[in-house]
Amino acid sequence: MRIKVPKVSWHHLVWFLGRIPKYIPKHIIIVWMVILNRLLTRVKLLRMGLNIDNDKCVHCGIEVESRDHLLFECGFARELWGAILALCGVNRRVSSWERELAWAIHCFKACMGWSCVWHLEGEK
Ligand SMILES: [Zn+2]
Repeated sequence: MRIKVPKVSWHHLVWFLGRIPKYIPKHIIIVWMVILNRLLTRVKLLRMGLNIDNDKCVHCGIEVESRDHLLFECGFARELWGAILALCGVNRRVSSWERELAWAIHCFKACMGWSCVWHLEGEK
């Protein structure tokens, strides 16, 4: 027996609502993990006891690598988002995690934008 639970406000960023999936499944899982704050950032890896040098951001090496920093606060992320938004014809600057999630929930029909970021990150 399946129990029906209410949908979260961000479900359409991750799942397809019956449309034919055209996005990369690995990216969908990453988006889901990011929203749930389960992404294994360096600060989390250190807390888990992994033997890594420090908890600093892999891009800037200055700030602690948290989800919020990695995705929206880091200068690298801000430049990347700026380029993606410009390509999409969107004239706005990125803000905090909470504001960007709210914006994405309101504006995105699917997770294509976030999927693009992870694809580009993987090509570095
Ligand atoms: Zn950084």
